[in-house]
Amino acid sequence: MTAVATDVLVVGAGFYGLSSAWAMTQLRSGARITVVDEGEFASGASGRNGAGFRMQWGLDLNILLSKESTAFFENAAELLDYPRGIELKQDGYLVLAHSQNALDRLNASIAIQHRYQVPSELLDADACMKMVPSLGRNRLVGGTYCAKDGSASPFRLLDALLIACRREGVDVRYGTRVERIEKRNGVFTASTKDGTIEADRVLLCTDWAAPRLLAPGGRLIVELGAGQELSVRTLFTNTGLAIVTVRNDLSGIPRALVANAP
Ligand SMILES: Cc1cc2nc3c(=O)[nH]c(=O)nc-3n(C[C@H](O)[C@H](O)[C@H](O)COP(=O)(O)OP(=O)(O)OC[C@H]3O[C@@H](n4cnc5c(N)ncnc54)[C@H](O)[C@@H]3O)c2cc1C
Repeated sequence: MTAVATDVLVVGAGFYGLSSAWAMTQLRSGARITVVDEGEFASGASGRNGAGFRMQWGLDLNILLSKESTAFFENAAELLDYPRGIELKQDGYLVLAHSQNALDRLNASIAIQHRYQVPSELLDADACMKMVPSLGRNRLVGGTYCAKDGSASPFRLLDALLIACRREGVDVRYGTRVERIEKRNGVFTASTKDGTIEADRVLLCTDWAAPRLLAPGGRLIVELGAGQELSVRTLFTNTGLAIVTVRNDLSGIPRALVANAP
């Protein structure tokens, strides 16, 4: 490869990279899309996970997003034209509470889930133990259960996305590491060992590796899970990033962390 020109360059071929590329083909046909990954198929976190999904969340946005995702998983084989299927198993998630306080919070979340017709239910300790007899009572107060939650095969889902992307004309290349990205005259130039890729838009889907590609002063914004602010701050600071600000969500929980490359 010497110089390649594309409309959109996606860096990283995990779930985020491949599903974004596929979604773009559905939104705008004819766009030239190139996906590069430094590793092999499924070599990142997307090939190392349980691919579990659930709609049992406590924030409206999370519930809405997971509802959309669940509907996608339920129809993925048809949507992606992948007859082998993604080994979807909707055998339910049981979320346990070991204090009344925790059960009250789960119950409050259920009220929000029901606003969006998520079929979750509150269970007492006996019902939880009946569902999973090996649990044992051991401070168990109760839990919540949603039969529509479940899991899929991460490899099948990635394979389905890869095949669908290539069918739509997306150029997916493995073993291609982006070393540096620069912007000149409104065009991004990504340098790889085999040459350069010029793109109007760049989508970084490199997961934890994103800071390596930030230009000096480049900005990284990530969502914080509840209670994760300190560990994410430490992780970022150890990577050499400067924390700019942390924003709370509407419930007052630290939710978005903004950092700058030095
Ligand atoms: C053990 C484990 C269990 C998990 N279980 C679940 C679960 O049950 N449910 C769930 O929803 N989530 C789960 N997750 C989280 C989930 O796996 C990740 O959130 C998701 O896979 C991230 O996808 P991604 O595309 O952002 O990253 P990745 O899959 O890591 O893809 C990023 C890609 O970028 C490539 N890359 C990086 N730098 C460059 C570069 N400079 N040039 C080119 N390519 C580059 C990498 O090679 C990699 O393939 C789990 C994660 C782990 C580790």
